[in-house]
Amino acid sequence: MGFFKTLEINDDNDKKSGELEPTENVKCLIIGSGPAGYTAAIYAARANLKPVIIQGMEAGGQLTTTTEVDNFPGYPEGVTGPVMMEDLKAQAERFGTDVRWGEVTSVDFSQRPFKVIVDNNKPFIAETVIIATGATAKYLGLESEKKFRGAGVSACATCDGFFYKGLKVAVVGGGDTAAEEASYLAGITEKVFLIIRKPYMRASKAMLKRVENTPNIEILYEHNTKEITGTNVVTGVTLIKRKGESDEEEVKIDIDGFFLAIGHKPNSDIFKDYLETDDVGYIKTIPGTSKTNVEGVFAAGDIQDSIYRQAVTAAASGCMAALDAERFLAEQE
Ligand code: NDP
Repeated sequence: MGFFKTLEINDDNDKKSGELEPTENVKCLIIGSGPAGYTAAIYAARANLKPVIIQGMEAGGQLTTTTEVDNFPGYPEGVTGPVMMEDLKAQAERFGTDVRWGEVTSVDFSQRPFKVIVDNNKPFIAETVIIATGATAKYLGLESEKKFRGAGVSACATCDGFFYKGLKVAVVGGGDTAAEEASYLAGITEKVFLIIRKPYMRASKAMLKRVENTPNIEILYEHNTKEITGTNVVTGVTLIKRKGESDEEEVKIDIDGFFLAIGHKPNSDIFKDYLETDDVGYIKTIPGTSKTNVEGVFAAGDIQDSIYRQAVTAAASGCMAALDAERFLAEQE
C-alpha cells in the first residue's frame, strides 16, 4: 500500500524511476488462469471489455497438475488437465483476450480505477478486476509425495478417484473434505483407510457419522504418515501410530492411491488489505454474485469457494464475474 502512496503512476514518472515499465490502462484485468479466469476472459472478451489476463505462477492453474479430466462437460472421451487449459486459453484468445505471463505482486484497491503491479515492475490501471487466483492444496511435505505426484498421489478424489476403481486407497485428513473424499472413494474403491493425526475428527457430526457407517472405510486415529512407498507407482504407505503419551509403532499398509485432504490455502494474501475474507482466507462474495466488498472487484473460482472446488463450478463463477463486471461498467457510463 505504501508503495502506491509514494508513487504517482503515469508514464512520465515511470520513465524517471527507471524501474517501472509504462502503465497500461485496461477495462477488465483478470488475475489467474484456471477455468475461472479463462471463462471470465471468454465472456469479457465477447462483451468487448478487451480483457488482459495475468497468468500467475502456475499458468493454467491446478488442473495442469492433474492427468485425465473426465467430469468436465463437453469432453466425452475425457481430456488431460493441461490440454483442457490450452483449449480454454485458445478459446479466450480467439475473442481477443490478451494473455500475459507474470504474477501480480501488489494491488491498490483503495480507489477506482484500481492499481495492479505485475512482477514488481509492470503497472496496470484497471477499471474492473476479476480475481481468479484459486487455492493451492496443502501437502504434507514428504519427498515421496513429490516423487509419486500423478503416479498414485493426488489432492483431488473427484478428479482422480475413478482410476482406483476396485483398488485400495488412503485419505489423510480429519476435516469435512477428508470425510467427503473418503466417502466418495468408498463408492468406487475396495477399501479406504482414513488417516487422522488426532484421536478425533474435526469434520461435522453428520460427515463423521457417514464415514463411520461406511463399511469399507477404516478410520486410523492417531496415525501420521511417515513415507509413501513404491517403485514407479504407489504400492503402500508407512504410518506412525501413537500409543499412549510417549510410545509409538510403525504400521505399513498396502495401497494403490494416496489422497491428501488436509486443506487448501486460498491465494488471497495480496488482496487482504482491501477485501473481506473468511478465517481461512477465502474471499467473501455477496451470495449469488461474484461481487466483493469493493465495487468493481469480483472474485471467481476456488478463491471464493471452499466447498465445491470443481473446474466446472469455477468456470461458471468466472462467467458470473465477467457478466457482473460488464454490468458494473455499463452502470458507470
Ligand atoms: P480443514 O482445515 O477443516 O481440515 C484439515 C484437516 O487436515 C484437519 O483434520 C487437520 O488435522 C488435518 N491436517 C492438517 N495438516 C495436517 C498434517 N500435516 N498431517 C495430518 N493431518 C493434517 O480443511 P477442509 O479442507 O477439510 O475444510 C475446509 C473448510 O471447508 C472447512 O470449513 C469445512 O467445513 C469446509 N468444507 C465443507 C464441506 C461441506 O459442507 N460439504 C465440504 C468440504 C469442506 P487437525 O484436525 O489435527 O488440525
